[in-house]
Amino acid sequence: MAGMLSFDQLKSQVTDGLIDTVLVCFVDMQGRLTGKRFHGANFVQHSYVETHCCNYLLATDLEMATPEGYASTSWASGYGDYVMKPDLTTIRPVPWLESTAMVLCDLLDHRTHDLVPQAPRTILKRQIARLEAMGLTPMMATELEFFLFEKSLDEIRKSGFRDLAPISGYNEDYHIFQTTKEEGIMRPIRNHLYAAGIPVENTKGEAEAGQEELNIRYADALACADHHTIAKHAIKEIAWQHGHAASFLPKWAAGMVGSSSHVHQSLWDGETPAFYNAKDKLGMSDLMRHYMAGLIAYAPDYTVFLAPYVNSYKRFSKGTFAPTKTVWSVDNRTAGFRLCGDGTKGVRVECRIGGSDLNPYLAQAAMLAAGIKGIEEKMELAAPTQGDVYEDAKAADIPQTLRAATETLRGSAMLRAAMGDDVVDHYTRCAEWEQEEFDRAVTDWEIARGFERA
Ligand code: ADP
Repeated sequence: MAGMLSFDQLKSQVTDGLIDTVLVCFVDMQGRLTGKRFHGANFVQHSYVETHCCNYLLATDLEMATPEGYASTSWASGYGDYVMKPDLTTIRPVPWLESTAMVLCDLLDHRTHDLVPQAPRTILKRQIARLEAMGLTPMMATELEFFLFEKSLDEIRKSGFRDLAPISGYNEDYHIFQTTKEEGIMRPIRNHLYAAGIPVENTKGEAEAGQEELNIRYADALACADHHTIAKHAIKEIAWQHGHAASFLPKWAAGMVGSSSHVHQSLWDGETPAFYNAKDKLGMSDLMRHYMAGLIAYAPDYTVFLAPYVNSYKRFSKGTFAPTKTVWSVDNRTAGFRLCGDGTKGVRVECRIGGSDLNPYLAQAAMLAAGIKGIEEKMELAAPTQGDVYEDAKAADIPQTLRAATETLRGSAMLRAAMGDDVVDHYTRCAEWEQEEFDRAVTDWEIARGFERA
């Protein structure tokens, strides 16, 4: 992809004074870029080999709190170091920041130099390797939906996140005039990401005032997750540079549509789309049917990876295009899984359950694990559903709360076998902690409801 830099290219750009700063980053449990800013000269001479970070970074919440209950690290073990190992195939310029490049790292154990099992990039790499052993490559695309606001993040935070005014006054789904008014932010997002080696397809207005969507061309699963993470980061930074806020909170207002991250999935055998069978009415191969059967059957097990916070579950409501049922359908946006590109080589399944707050490495890894199980067990795919799936009483529900989804993860024999107990226990604790923190909070809703009338 144009835009990527080889290590040698980075070295000469540093020598020529074109790059002076290298962001050396890994992805945390919440899907955030985390790391350090290196002087370019230091990076190309020394730190490209490895650098280090505190291992609490894979055991904190959004507030950087240090909850107890993780086996991998704790106050008791002294919160030691991880090795950050730059993946030199991920070097790219960061065109929205001056003279800056970026590299993504894998996390390694400080002593053994083995991959850290709980790191999101490791978790995805391990499921990709299972498919590779079957001769298959997963190709994925994750859509990014988010809201833009009139005010800046700093103004909004200082005013207690109140009086949130989206950047547009009306639903801007596919709306060209309203999105023209937002081009000051959206055009740099498209162009800077493209110049950073991210194959942007398009942006569009979404189905709510101030709501936007970014589409990136599908890629192998690891590249797709890298693209998603960098794009989400860039959107926040570029909106901030222009004095506005971008938010990926899935549901910021009860009466408004939430933000999703739909995940398109297909498996390939080299250049051949392994989901395609020209002879089938819908163009679906048996492999695709088995994969989808696993994906659907195990959706409750991995819902927490698609909806990791208390707020994520506020998005699942009828008539908003956010699904509530674990069924599939042909090009029907009310079901959890939608068949896209039927009858063509681009035949694929889109999972519509995930919110804009998902961590793409974890979400993709969990779905691949479910699909692999479907393939291994040759699971039967039920017939597609039709009509308004919200009203289909027979269709199974996804877990409706973080508490319920945490328990389905904890009890998932499939994910324990696919990812390991250490990983499942770690992320169960992460989800449990979110719920515990919420349970301790006194919310505005409770005060408004009960202050006078209780
Ligand atoms: P729609 O807008 O109807 O959801 P698009 O044609 O815009 O569908 O495609 C949505 C996403 O699906 C894009 O990011 C595209 O790159 C991706 N995509 C296309 N073909 C495949 C495929 N075979 N496997 C995975 N993703 C794909």
